[in-house]
Amino acid sequence: MQMFENYSSHWMDGDLEQFEAVVARFFREQVEPNDLKWREAKRTGRDVWRKAGELGIILPDVPEQYGGSGGTPAHMAVVIREQARVGDAAFGVMLSHIVGHYILAFGTEAQKLRWLPGIASGEVICSIAMTEPGTGSDLQAIRCRADRAGDAYVVNGAKTFITNGQQSDFVLVVARTGAEGAKGISLILVETATPGFRRGKCLDKIGIEGADTSEMYFDDCTVPADNVLGGVEGQGFYQLMGQLPHERAAIAISAQGAMERALALTLDYVKERKAFGKAIVDFQNTRFELADIKATVLACRTFCDHVIEKWVDGTLDSALASMAKFWLTDRQVEVIDRCLQFFGGYGYMREYPIARMYTDARVQRIYGGANEIQRELVGRSL
Ligand SMILES: Cc1cc2nc3c(=O)[nH]c(=O)nc-3n(C[C@H](O)[C@H](O)[C@H](O)COP(=O)(O)OP(=O)(O)OC[C@H]3O[C@@H](n4cnc5c(N)ncnc54)[C@H](O)[C@@H]3O)c2cc1C
Repeated sequence: MQMFENYSSHWMDGDLEQFEAVVARFFREQVEPNDLKWREAKRTGRDVWRKAGELGIILPDVPEQYGGSGGTPAHMAVVIREQARVGDAAFGVMLSHIVGHYILAFGTEAQKLRWLPGIASGEVICSIAMTEPGTGSDLQAIRCRADRAGDAYVVNGAKTFITNGQQSDFVLVVARTGAEGAKGISLILVETATPGFRRGKCLDKIGIEGADTSEMYFDDCTVPADNVLGGVEGQGFYQLMGQLPHERAAIAISAQGAMERALALTLDYVKERKAFGKAIVDFQNTRFELADIKATVLACRTFCDHVIEKWVDGTLDSALASMAKFWLTDRQVEVIDRCLQFFGGYGYMREYPIARMYTDARVQRIYGGANEIQRELVGRSL
């Protein structure tokens, strides 16, 4: 999508452009046409995972020895951006990517070899379960427990709002293995076939309906002690702090892709739709509004490119990722709202992509850590 004349992202190169063409085609052909069907079914089904796995786009930035494609975070940035550019949020590839990177960064060699190839190929779908009915923002207050019993952990508790929850084959569970506070938290890998694991309701949402978002229950769910991420308990909070900036950067990139799509759809529409005998684009208000929106989207793009460059060179820090997350998702919600206005009544009809983008966007300010929490994190760094 060539949105800005004479602007190109510095982190893109010839190899990434070729990859982008493959990824864009995948989303255009295998994902976009399924939008309404998946929203209705509240899930994607497994086919799309396998197809994405065959193309190497689930873990494009994981070494080949673990089944990945041996690329860099720039490859994942391309995947996220292309997904947003077709308006999709149903295919939970970002979550499998996130879980894969927890394992790559902190897992033991045996955990990497056991889990990563299946995630990369799309055979294994993953979730990460942090949020509980009683706590989301305050992660240190989680109550789900994993108690050591010989060479096993016994997991008990409830989680909610878990993406990929109905389809996942394993869940990276944030659980308390020790005392109150950060040092008592561990990440435990739980296969969903384990007795004592139960999926709850697939939740009814106002947007991104095709992404299955679920409750989960653990009742004496017993897993081998080897399933603690990294093999040592008490590291969970530090592991989360290490990976959450990547999740936040990814959300920011998806916000960027969505804004670019909203602007492109709107430009097409205002040139076609007529009122008072002229195209809507010929009203000065339309041109001023769209000039403003285009400037905002370009400013977001340059910010986003800066974040991607930092991610690629390994210098993305927590404050920058939080800034990008809150700022780009706030802009996403505003930009889509302003774009929708030009569609008049049609903008309120779900049949029109801009209407679905409007309801899909809202959650971006909530998950991955609410935007207020992101401002808090940035505030601490001032
Ligand atoms: C569609 C969807 C998918 C999700 N996917 C996942 C997933 O895959 N895995 C997962 O673990 N979780 C997931 N979540 C959960 C999400 O991360 C949480 O909803 C989010 O972190 C907020 O937690 P909460 O809902 O408990 O809100 P609360 O923590 O109760 O906060 C409510 C509001 O209070 C305000 N607030 C809270 N603390 C502060 C503070 N310190 N300063 C200022 N204001 C504050 C904020 O406005 C916040 O939005 C998902 C949620 C949704 C809706």
